[in-house]
Amino acid sequence: MQFSDFGLESRLIDTVEHLGFTAPTEIQQQAIPAAMQGHDLIASSKTGSGKTLAFILPALQRLMKNRALSKRDPRVVILTPTRELAKQVFSQLRLFTSNTQFKAVLILGGENFNDQVKVLEKDPHFIVATPGRLADHLTQGHFYLNGLELLILDEADRMLDLGFAKQLSQINEAADHRKRQTLLFSATLDHAQVNDFAQELLKKPKRIAIGGAFTEHNDIHKRFYLADNLDHKEALLQHFLKAESYQQVIIFTATRSDTERLANLLIEQELSAVALSGELIQSQRNQIMEGFSKGHHKILVTTDLASRGLDLVNVSLIINFDMPKHAEEFIHRIGRTGRAGSKGDAIAFVGPKDWLSFKNVEGLLEQTISFAQVKGLTGKFKGLKPKKVSAKAAKVKDIKTDKSPTTKVKKAAKKTFHVAKDVGDMPIIKRKKALTAQQIEDNDLDEVK
Ligand code: ADP
Ligand code: MG
Repeated sequence: MQFSDFGLESRLIDTVEHLGFTAPTEIQQQAIPAAMQGHDLIASSKTGSGKTLAFILPALQRLMKNRALSKRDPRVVILTPTRELAKQVFSQLRLFTSNTQFKAVLILGGENFNDQVKVLEKDPHFIVATPGRLADHLTQGHFYLNGLELLILDEADRMLDLGFAKQLSQINEAADHRKRQTLLFSATLDHAQVNDFAQELLKKPKRIAIGGAFTEHNDIHKRFYLADNLDHKEALLQHFLKAESYQQVIIFTATRSDTERLANLLIEQELSAVALSGELIQSQRNQIMEGFSKGHHKILVTTDLASRGLDLVNVSLIINFDMPKHAEEFIHRIGRTGRAGSKGDAIAFVGPKDWLSFKNVEGLLEQTISFAQVKGLTGKFKGLKPKKVSAKAAKVKDIKTDKSPTTKVKKAAKKTFHVAKDVGDMPIIKRKKALTAQQIEDNDLDEVK
């Protein structure tokens, strides 16, 4: 199958060819025609399989072919959970709109509100946004959605995890349901919350799932290592940064304070590392991501802020210094490598306080994971027995074994566990009350409980 088989406008095909894409990926083969027929979609496929184009192309086609419902209102709104991902989707969209009459704008939390008001006054056709800030502009009447034709939620499940349900409902309700089409995309779309939400937003949606949501990503080679405590993890990290060959690496930690501390530790050793966390002001966040994507730094130390969607072609190694709080984030974190058919490596350290998260990941991947060892760096910790696994036991163990450098880190460690349930069975991921959307956009994504 070829891109020209979809019946897309030739301008769109030209741009796709210009990008060097010869054949559509599986998700593109299925989602593009279904979206062009006007169906609402719940579409999932593994990380790095080209979901962005699968929604950008039918969106552009629709605008080029159909007359606008309104002269002023945006015709397409694309929402993503993080500012970094919104920027990336926006730049991909701009490749297609830059030589057309269609205006696309980016509306993000953390940036100047009044500048955005001016931008919205120019009646853009496309808005790419994070939901909290866009909802604020909607509340204040800076734009209307009566003419909206297409609402696209990229990484829809993550937006719900982060507590954006209210903002998404508000945006949904401001648009005309009869005329509007809605598309949901993610690599992980099977939790109950997504289903309930889909019922509210979508009309007779078509489900497209390429592979099971959690099927093995064969291009990503995963290894897990047991670690006794923080010192042990740091020793393992040093080892792998020397032993592995990589172009660029992303190291994921559980808390934002750890990103800074680890990056400094690596910088002291003259490694080219940089820390990204939501604590930073937006211009710093932009600078760091731009520098990293241009290859100015070899190592990015971050939190789940960067777990979703980012397409950084030179990242060939992922290190989970800590396991993620939400099991699905593991799939997304490691999916920052092995993109578009390339190969990648993913390493994870599993200490006592990671054990429950690890079991949840094991459940999610539907496989028993065995541990690899590094000669000279094997420790004492061999995992927790199921009957001992309770949030309380894990907490006690945590504090005893992990040498946390600051009280802040200790406090964060204490708060880590809220996933304790059904070890060994399919995981039930219990979520505590999320921060408000505005808090998230103003502060961080990684410490949401
Ligand atoms: P996903 O959203 O599924 O994680 P992306 O949309 O970010 O994946 O795409 C991953 C990478 O694959 C990007 O670099 C993108 O440019 C590239 N890509 C997209 N479609 C194709 C295609 N048909 N052929 C080759 N590469 C593609
Ligand atoms: Mg994506």
